[in-house]
Amino acid sequence: MGLIKVKDLIYEYIRRDEEGNVEGITTAVDDVSLDINQGDFVAVLGHNGSGKSTLAKHLNAILYPTEGTVWVDGKDTKDEEAVWDIRQTAGMVFQNPDNQIIGQIVEEDVGFGPENMGVPAREIWERVEESLKAVGMYQFRKFSPNKLSGGQKQRVSIAGVIAMHPKCIVLDEPTAMLDPKGRKEVIRAVRALNDVEHITVILITHYMEEVIYADKVYVMDKGRVTLQGTPREVFSEVSRLKELRLDVPQVTLLAHELEKEGFPMPKGVLTNQEFLEALDQCISEVG
Ligand code: ADP
Ligand code: MG
Repeated sequence: MGLIKVKDLIYEYIRRDEEGNVEGITTAVDDVSLDINQGDFVAVLGHNGSGKSTLAKHLNAILYPTEGTVWVDGKDTKDEEAVWDIRQTAGMVFQNPDNQIIGQIVEEDVGFGPENMGVPAREIWERVEESLKAVGMYQFRKFSPNKLSGGQKQRVSIAGVIAMHPKCIVLDEPTAMLDPKGRKEVIRAVRALNDVEHITVILITHYMEEVIYADKVYVMDKGRVTLQGTPREVFSEVSRLKELRLDVPQVTLLAHELEKEGFPMPKGVLTNQEFLEALDQCISEVG
């Protein structure tokens, strides 16, 4: 079994009136199965309301399945005794860094998690140092978080999670509130966690260009996984992605348009570099 296994997950939000009668049911996750291995970088894409956050909240036992099962490191999230282990295995980072940072000083904030876990003081400082270095924020360790940019704050919240030494980090639209520079910083830090620290990453986003480095992409729509595969496979489905109201990266779109016009462009072009190479090839073939 992988590090995270989701089998036939269904989750329903039930709305009740003041008397407790059921007013309505929203099936936010509708029969989703996933298998994520240790060390994977997985992206979950989807428009607003497609069920991404509801799915994410199952991965560290904030929500429990209405139907189906979620295992984290072999433990069923419905097992109450496993909750703390599960939350430590799968750390969560949310959209708004301001709601996640509580310390007055960066290093203090990053130390809270391990401190609450009962990690001995000396080791806390080692973890704080290593986590801040991993996200490129070590030089800001003495700063007050409110002096930092959005991207820097979000990297501090990520450091706070990795200081707890999780096997997996789930990031729910960590860049949604950031400017383009902040988004790049955060994505670069997340990639390094995966590449260098070998932490399993589950990145939830609706920015397509953030998923090109993922090993596997799941695209959600109306609670279901509607498309899955490598980034290249998923990005080959340009018209499907447009139907799902996802913004396809400009180079992918341009390559797709050229291909439609009869130019021999490959499917699923992901980066500027690839586009230029494909264009070169194309020009020499067309002559
Ligand atoms: P996403 O993160 O992709 O935007 P969500 O998981 O937040 O999607 O939402 C999926 C569906 O569940 C939406 O229809 C949303 O309105 C509904 N939903 C989300 N949270 C709640 C809640 N606390 N109560 C009732 N419905 C909710
Ligand atoms: Mg969400």
